[in-house]
Amino acid sequence: MSGGDHLDFEIRPNPAPVAAAERAALIANPGFGRIFTDHMVTIRWADGKGWYDARVEARAPIPMDPASAVLHYAQEIFEGLKAYPCDDGGVTMFRPDANARRFQESATRMAMPHLPEELFIGSLHEIIKADRGWLPTDAEGSLYLRPFMFANEVFLGVRPALEYLYVLIASPVGPYFSGGIKPVTVWVSDVYTRAAPGGTGAAKCGGNYAASLSAHAEAIEHGCDQVIYLDAVERKYIDELGGMNVFFVFDDGSITTPPLTGTILPGITRDSLITLARDAGADVREEPYSLAQWREDAASGRLREAFACGTAAVVTPIGRVRSVEGEIVMGDGGSGAVTMKLRQQLVDIQRGRAEDPHGWVHRV
Ligand code: PMP
Repeated sequence: MSGGDHLDFEIRPNPAPVAAAERAALIANPGFGRIFTDHMVTIRWADGKGWYDARVEARAPIPMDPASAVLHYAQEIFEGLKAYPCDDGGVTMFRPDANARRFQESATRMAMPHLPEELFIGSLHEIIKADRGWLPTDAEGSLYLRPFMFANEVFLGVRPALEYLYVLIASPVGPYFSGGIKPVTVWVSDVYTRAAPGGTGAAKCGGNYAASLSAHAEAIEHGCDQVIYLDAVERKYIDELGGMNVFFVFDDGSITTPPLTGTILPGITRDSLITLARDAGADVREEPYSLAQWREDAASGRLREAFACGTAAVVTPIGRVRSVEGEIVMGDGGSGAVTMKLRQQLVDIQRGRAEDPHGWVHRV
């Protein structure tokens, strides 16, 4: 079949998979994004033909013509989510339907075709089936899944390509914080911004991350771990970090997070934490919050905690904020109680250790 929402995956097992003993040694200490499984999924798209040729095959380099459109005009999008080993021996994914929808929204922004949700989720199932032996057995480990799509039509010229390749690869990962959860220090860049209104900030496209690297280098020069971006218009309001959304927790138990106005990525962790906090009765506002207000509220004690969130690290406390105007220390610079409670609640649902009232957990 071709062109529709349903395609059968042709399975071509890797004829030379990594030996079991070597694999076990690799996944015992995987780090993050360094080790890859034996297989990949590929699906092709062509104008007039739609999606076709869905395959599970040996992970291998992708032959690429030097005139492939992505190499020149950066039509590329990606996603990131995890498969979790459960205590009962099963495997789960967390809200893969939300990643499928965000992948479609990113595609719309970059003038690329939509991968049907059924194919996106189908591809995740296929790679987990093929590479189940690569799931870490460690209770804190997971299999990071990286779906991506790029323009592989061979042409030079600025217009949407007429051919694309969707690829899914997988990487076993260990706990993000191997030495326990450490609060991060963030740098507020007065040089760089991440996304302007009407730009690509809400899309998960590679170009956004390429543009963040100089800002990240600036953060490191200032002794910080990550960049936190201000809005591009007034240079006043907090947008998000380079790869995480941000939350503020106040002394009355209320919580604020920047609104989804098109310049920040609509994080699935962000959405899940808003829901969990509201379930627990917290007043959660999605509204702009300025750096000046942050400074004032931290000084007065009204602001108790700040944290960043995303799939990779789940929830990361923000201990300090540095900018050309000086440093803000959150409380004693440690990990706040509300932050850590929300983190635990979410992790317990993701790993099938707690009830899942919103049907987020998807069993494979
Ligand atoms: N913002 C940016 C810029 C990101 O790259 C990510 C990671 N995908 C996030 C926020 C968090 O999104 P999620 O919770 O869906 O991982």
